Amino acid sequence: EQSVAVLFSGGDAPGMNAFLRAVVRLGLNREKIAVLGIRDGYRGLVRTARAVNDDAEALVRLKNDIATHTGRAGLISEQLHIIQMDHASVSGIMGKGGTILGSARCLEFHDKKVRDSVIKLLKSLNVRALVVVGGDGSLTGARLLAQESDLRVIGVPATIDNDLQFTDMALGVDTAVNTLVWAVDHFIDTARSHRRVMVLETMGRASGDLARMAGLASGAEMIITPEGGPLNEEAMKKLAAKIEGAMTRGRGHAIVLVAEGVEFDPPQKRNRAYVLMDAFQQYFQRAGAPFQDLEVRPSVLGHLQRGGHTTPGDCILAARFADHAWKTIQQPDGGSGITALRGNVVEIVPYGEPDMPERAAYSREMELLHDALSSW
Ligand code: ADP
Repeated sequence: EQSVAVLFSGGDAPGMNAFLRAVVRLGLNREKIAVLGIRDGYRGLVRTARAVNDDAEALVRLKNDIATHTGRAGLISEQLHIIQMDHASVSGIMGKGGTILGSARCLEFHDKKVRDSVIKLLKSLNVRALVVVGGDGSLTGARLLAQESDLRVIGVPATIDNDLQFTDMALGVDTAVNTLVWAVDHFIDTARSHRRVMVLETMGRASGDLARMAGLASGAEMIITPEGGPLNEEAMKKLAAKIEGAMTRGRGHAIVLVAEGVEFDPPQKRNRAYVLMDAFQQYFQRAGAPFQDLEVRPSVLGHLQRGGHTTPGDCILAARFADHAWKTIQQPDGGSGITALRGNVVEIVPYGEPDMPERAAYSREMELLHDALSSW
């Protein structure tokens, strides 16, 4: 009997569990096709391929294990990397961050021989399509699998960084923005009480989108993003002067969001929030400055941005992506591709699509709007 396999790879993102629930339930209810859950991303497949590809008896044992360890039994058995999902195994997980199947990085997957071994494994298990949920790196792996075999490989963008330029939104972004707004709210309380400047470092890899969206949604006073180019001493002084100017006009505190992709000229080893704290503090304390007591406090928000309760927006997007993944898999002459949200329509786009110009325009628009909404 044929099945469809799903795995989660790279950095986790809220919405992955909501996607798993949707893809499994649609498979069982609507498509009447079994769904295999792969534990620990590509690594789970690579390890299983190594164990069974050249061992006929081991392959028989694996097939037997998959058939007998369905649902919870499969999830409990840590040794088994391939699990036949049932209704109950995805019950109550929709709002939970992370992924119950686990995600992993797998360096070996850059090696074509290793990818070939995975294709061989999936064929011997009669898997007709593989669904890969993850970020840029994971989708590159998916594209290679699709190019190198006749397997259907459907990619689903999931990353809180929102750095994929072929989709308006990836799974997890909405939740991460929500978490950042919550965090900014907490920092505002203390910043206001102490008349402080808080510099908060957000995730986002090379993209400033997460910081921009969080800045727009939280009303943070300043957003510093990588797209503006590396910051030198002069640029940092200008930013500090802007904050000082606001203080002169009666502003009591400021929240500054700095994206983790921001670079400095000359390069710095420390976290961005700390580099900016020192630069700002130095500026505020220069001889004759009006606010020499103004304190700056840094915080690197880190992995708290990746967890938490999944927002309704992400749960809905997860269901829509799962629906489209199935529609593509079930098209007789359909190939491989990635689910993408474009102008609130979910589409399947080919791997390696050029960046959408609309995405850059959208980022720019958010930045301009943020500036226009400032009270400084
Ligand atoms: P993300 O998917 O969140 O961007 P990574 O960039 O770490 O995370 O990629 C996750 C995994 O995807 C890697 O550990 C590797 O297994 C696979 N991968 C990434 N880039 C490639 C590539 N160029 N070729 C093959 N596999 C890749």
